[in-house]
Formats: sequence, structure tokens, C-alpha cells
Amino acid sequence: MNKPIIQNNAAPEISGVGSARYARQIRFSPVGEKGQQLLAGSRAAVVGMGALGSVIAQHLVRSGVGYVRIIDRDIIEWSNLQRQMLYTEEDVLSLLPKAEAAAAHLRAMNSSVFIDPIVADLTAMNAEELLADVDLIVDGSDNFSVRYLINDYSVKYSIPWIYGGAVGASGMTMTIIPGESPCYRCLFNEPPPPGTTDTCETSGVISPVVDIIGSLQATEAIKLLSGNKNALHGTLFQVDLWNHAWLPISVAKSKRSHCDCCGNRQFAFLEDQMSGSAAALCGRHSVQITPSQDALLNLEELAERLKPVGTITRNRFLLRIELEADLTLVLFQDGRAIVQGTDQLAKARSLYAELLGN
Ligand SMILES: [Zn+2]
Repeated sequence: MNKPIIQNNAAPEISGVGSARYARQIRFSPVGEKGQQLLAGSRAAVVGMGALGSVIAQHLVRSGVGYVRIIDRDIIEWSNLQRQMLYTEEDVLSLLPKAEAAAAHLRAMNSSVFIDPIVADLTAMNAEELLADVDLIVDGSDNFSVRYLINDYSVKYSIPWIYGGAVGASGMTMTIIPGESPCYRCLFNEPPPPGTTDTCETSGVISPVVDIIGSLQATEAIKLLSGNKNALHGTLFQVDLWNHAWLPISVAKSKRSHCDCCGNRQFAFLEDQMSGSAAALCGRHSVQITPSQDALLNLEELAERLKPVGTITRNRFLLRIELEADLTLVLFQDGRAIVQGTDQLAKARSLYAELLGN
């Protein structure tokens, strides 16, 4: 049976610049028709589609940024739903990668935006490819190595980025404009040693702080992409919601001429092309295994072969094997795996090798 043809000449125009969709945003005079057109012609990448990324991407898509790339390495878990506003219980049950689930929700919000989901871990190996061809990078990640990598890329190619982080009821954000503002390393030269900072796992996090930091990042993104660079806040902005403390620290004089990154133009994090690795995921009782070579796995074939080992669930993006002793291995098409139920790198690595012979 053919699909019915809906004829409705009076249908409101729902997409495009100048349409009813963006009327209120256009009426806000700093944006206006011109700003709206600039947004429509803009390309942004959001790195990390967890709590911050959910907020940032929704604002970018609803406000009509023409192209939004969303990069995330993870799947959706029950413990995400308390604060990762894009996702639903159904997404957890469907075992969807975050980038794919997010893309579906974002497309339903605004079909005129090109959403480009990438299921991958942003590393020095792939950063130049995954961050290419955008006007702006927005940080929705939860770890320092990614931020130093983004900072290197941003300074090297002169692409602005907006840093954000939240833990407990506190958060922080800063907008980096290469060549104008200090870069991230001007303020924080080295990543903190592992285990020395609070994480969402050790200190918890409440959802409103994520909304606020993500919204501040999105506001800066809208300013930048709509041609309102002069309106950027120009601070390292910190907030402690529980104590209602709002603290903008001016960074106008924080640019260091001898900064390794923006001063000496050494991009150590971007050039650290280590091959293959295992890394514990920020207190998640999980380890991520990245193979030394890109792979394109045949998940169907693998599922058949691994059947005797444990209970297997599969969709077109990934394969999950529940093993004994509360260990679960989630295997992505590119050969990357997340081993849930352990913090021990060696144990995760040997499990991966046992199952995949690599
Ligand atoms: Zn710098």
C-alpha cells in the first residue's frame, strides 16, 4: 500500500532561516536575521555526549546551527539517566551508542539540521580527522586527556573551543579563541595527576549544574557563530550552585607568551600517536581497550563464534557479551571494547585477547 500523500497547503513552514521556527530568536536583536543566517551556515562539533553534551547539542540544534557533529565513545547506562537529558529508558534497553541515540533525538527536534553522529573515542590517532572542517568545538567530555587534545587542535588550526566541566554542584567553563584569548594550557599547563581531582564517580553530581554549565557553553557558541564575538564573557567562569557562589575570573591577562601550546606551538598531546591502549574510564569500574589498528568487525560472525562464552546481545552498532563473575564486554564495530566490571587494565586486556585473539 502506498503511503497517503498529505496535502496541506496551509502547513506552517517549519524549517529554514526566517521561518516561524526561529522567530523568537531572530527577534532578539543581537541575533536578528543576519545572525540566524550565520548560524544556519555554521558547523560545530560536540565532543562527548554525556550530561554536558546533551545540553549543548540540544541548544545548538534547536537554535538552527546548520551542521552538528556529535562524537562519543560510550553506550547509555542506567546511571546516566539522572543527568544526561537527551536519553530515555528505552535507549538504555536498546543498548544504543550515545552518539546514535542522541542523533535520533536531535533529528526529531530539528530535521533541518545535519546531525553527524560518530561512535569513537577521540584520540591523537583520529583527532585531526574527527575535528576537521568545523568552525567551533564544544567540550562535553569528562576527562582531561581529551581537553588537552582539543586545545592542541584548536591552537594548531585556529579553531575556537569552549571548555566545560562539572562535578558535585560545581562547574567551570572558559571560551578559547586562538590568537586572542589565553589557551587552556596558559591556565592549566599540565593535566592533573590521576586520582587528584574530584570526579562524578567519587563526588557525585547533581543535574542542574550540568544544565547551567552546558547552557553557558551553548550561549557562548551561539554568540560566536552568530557573529557576536564581542559578547563573549572572557572569563574562567566558576559556579558552586550549592553555596550559590558565582565567580567569573577575568583571564584577560592570563595569556602566557611562553605557553608550550599557544606560545611555542608544541602540540604534544596531538602528536602523541601511541598505538593501542587500555585505559580505566574515570572511576566507572570499566576499562576501555583500543586496538592498535583500525578494524571493521563483522559483528554477526563474531556473535556466532563467541556464543559459547557468554550471553550475547547485538545490534548494528555493537555486541555485548555477559561473562561470568560480573564481567561484561561491549565490543564496537571499530574493534574498540569497553570491559565493564573491572578497573584492572591487565585483566581487561587479557580478556580482550582471549576473546578476540589479539
Ligand atoms: Zn597557551
